Amino acid sequence: MFCPYCGFEKTKVLNTMKGLQNKRYRVCDKCKRSFVSIEALFCDPYWQEYAKATKELGDLKGIKNE
Ligand SMILES: [Zn+2]
Repeated sequence: MFCPYCGFEKTKVLNTMKGLQNKRYRVCDKCKRSFVSIEALFCDPYWQEYAKATKELGDLKGIKNE
C-alpha cells in the first residue's frame, strides 16, 4: 500500500480491526505519518456465477480470453 502523503511504497500495519470491512492502521516508513486502509467485501451474485462457470470449465483460461 502506497503512502497517501509522500507516495512511498513501504508502510507498516500497526493494527487491524476485523469485521465485514477490515480496517488497517498503517504508518509510512518514510514520512512516519499514519492513515487507515479499508478492505471491503463484494458479494455480487454475478461474480459467484462467473466463478462457478470458470471452475466447471476446469481451468482459469476463460479469464484471460475475455
Ligand atoms: Zn509517507
